[in-house]
Amino acid sequence: VCCGLPCTALGSQEIARELADESARQGIEVDIVKTGCQGLCQKGPLMQVEPHGYFYQKVKPERAGEMISKTMGSGQPVREFLYRDSFLDEVKEQIQEVPFYSKQVKIALRNTGKVDPHDIHQYIAAGGFKAVKKMFSRMSPDDVLEEVKKANLRGRGGAGFPAGFKWAHTKRSGKGVPKLVIANGDEGDPGAFMDRSIMEGDPFSLLEGMLICAYSIDANFGFIYVRHEYPLAIKTLEKAIKQAEEMGLLGRNILGTGFDFSVFIKEGAGAFVCGEATSLVASLEGQRGFPRARPPRLSEVGGGAWGYPSNLNNIETYACVPPIIEKGADWFLGIGTPGSPGTKVFSLAGKVNNTGLVEVPMGITLREIVDEIGGGILNNRKFKAIQTGGPSGGCIPEQYLDLPVDFDSLWQVGSMMGSGGMVVMDESDCMVDIAKFFLAFCQSESCGKCPPCRVGTYQMLQIMERITSGEGQPGDIERLEKLIETVGEGSLCGLGRSAPNPVATTLRYFREEYEEHIHDKY
Ligand code: SF4
Repeated sequence: VCCGLPCTALGSQEIARELADESARQGIEVDIVKTGCQGLCQKGPLMQVEPHGYFYQKVKPERAGEMISKTMGSGQPVREFLYRDSFLDEVKEQIQEVPFYSKQVKIALRNTGKVDPHDIHQYIAAGGFKAVKKMFSRMSPDDVLEEVKKANLRGRGGAGFPAGFKWAHTKRSGKGVPKLVIANGDEGDPGAFMDRSIMEGDPFSLLEGMLICAYSIDANFGFIYVRHEYPLAIKTLEKAIKQAEEMGLLGRNILGTGFDFSVFIKEGAGAFVCGEATSLVASLEGQRGFPRARPPRLSEVGGGAWGYPSNLNNIETYACVPPIIEKGADWFLGIGTPGSPGTKVFSLAGKVNNTGLVEVPMGITLREIVDEIGGGILNNRKFKAIQTGGPSGGCIPEQYLDLPVDFDSLWQVGSMMGSGGMVVMDESDCMVDIAKFFLAFCQSESCGKCPPCRVGTYQMLQIMERITSGEGQPGDIERLEKLIETVGEGSLCGLGRSAPNPVATTLRYFREEYEEHIHDKY
């Protein structure tokens, strides 16, 4: 039973309770496994029945008796809960037949939605810690580094910097100086829930990935920075750390190897800017989350937390590491594109029929994501644009729907991968309004340290408000263009530098909408 947050909100805990009661009442033995997010949030509460492989959606607790007697007792599905493909008007019984899942490839989410995140034994039974076992028995720290470098695992948190090179740089910094491993679970983008779903649904894969990193760079301490709006993730991680310590997989003398690695959780206060590396480190140290100028980089002495060289990756990046070590870099390179191997997790939101959590191989087109995984545009409306990369990403128009999704292609059209937010817009959306919404978010989250961002985003927002309220003036578009350049080039950190993106891309692809707003007045 999916007990991710959306399904829990729709009553999945009650369904699990009813199923347990009914199985006891009917004397049919059933294991009720409460999993993390199964992905198709729009159709929750979700449930999978093994060994029959039935996939149920919109499950109702009052039908628990029938699900136990009919499905578990006689192996027959409750047809009302099976997935109905509205386009083909066909019923699908098995999860792999459901279009939302059939194009997906799961690496980071390999266990999310399958195992009980509160039980380390289920993670181990699903192949968890195999990579760690292989690492300790057959690989030196440098072997591990080389494997991650060879896999060309690019950071899934935003810029796509190769993780292996970051690890190697941290390791090289300051001979004899202690190193730290930090996981960025801040995830402040509106509508994004990729990292939360991993922390809530498969916390051990994060811990295993961090342990592998720690071994390769010789770090003995790790920190997971999680925003306080994620209380379930924090609770789940706390439990996972305790269980891993009890099993000798974290703490002193791991598995008798003599290697020590302890992990601590730091709760952030919810500022978007704390997702930026240097402000995250400041916040981790207990200071105000202000970005710092670089160099020194985080990986260098003086640049990381408390001055120690620190390796920072996001949650999804660490979750991809164990399968790379277990199956090898060549396996990973066989998925995705040459420049962006592997997969990417997206939270698909907006005007599509199927919203939820998806993991797709790099190189898949935007059209496949929108039409096949997303099930097309809601209410048969026309597609207008897709926004990738969170609030400071860009809006991509229909002409690029066949663009392969990878780090470099998205940059080329003015957007970015970011951490994986993906919002679909239809023909009824005003792109000037959309750009204003995202700009207003970035403006309110600006920490105020540097004037180009503090003053520039405010001026941009004033112009956008003027335009959308019908008070736009001739010359406003040109003023916006000047500000885009100033804020983008003059800001200290990534938040400010990327804040103009939604306005820049909508001006590039939907300029006539700005002009209509302004000229309507004159
Ligand atoms: Fe703060 Fe914005 Fe400057 Fe970043 S760019 S330091 S968020 S004011």
